[in-house]
Amino acid sequence: MTISHHPSDETLLRLAAGTLGAGPALVVSVHLEGCSVCRDRLARFEAVGGAILNGMAPAPLAPDLFARTLKRLEADRPSRSNRREALRRRPPVLGIELPRAIQGCEIGPWRWLGPGFRWSKVKIPGSPGAKVMLLKGKAGLRLPAHGHSGTEFTQILTGSLSDARGRYVPGDLDEAGDDVDHRPVVGQEAECVCLAALEGDTRLHGILGRLLRPVVGF
Ligand SMILES: [Zn+2]
Repeated sequence: MTISHHPSDETLLRLAAGTLGAGPALVVSVHLEGCSVCRDRLARFEAVGGAILNGMAPAPLAPDLFARTLKRLEADRPSRSNRREALRRRPPVLGIELPRAIQGCEIGPWRWLGPGFRWSKVKIPGSPGAKVMLLKGKAGLRLPAHGHSGTEFTQILTGSLSDARGRYVPGDLDEAGDDVDHRPVVGQEAECVCLAALEGDTRLHGILGRLLRPVVGF
């Protein structure tokens, strides 16, 4: 797996500092599962991020900061019995192997969004307001052009997506900010499944927003 699109340094710093929203944090966690480059970067940011974000003069680092953060991530991870429960709950129609980070979430069945286009609601335990979903598009599907009022985080799980900025394959994470107006197209080789989260009160503009809002609620 060759990963060429990663979360921004700002996003990793915010994850390190615990200020990234639950939805984006989940998407980035899925990316981290498959990306040792970002795991190493995060470890470095864990060491200095808190001090920078708090505007404090560099102080001697708490030697156990990274260990504590790992423990926190570990604690956020579902227990084995919760995972079994999540797997049992997982609707078989989803038909994909779920990344470890989302196995503790409640995942709805695929629902129709348009021709060749499905979505599934992802509920994060303890964060009911998080805007997270799985999206599935058939090979060659052209998604409606859209912009965002904030940042959209998309992690590719299977297949590929392309837009004017590049091509995104499994393992890649795309951060599309409010400066990005794009029209993603699913690669011809296979259907594409991705995990997407909208940050905070991010709204999608254009037809996609009008399509998603009534059924998805965001
Ligand atoms: Zn990465």
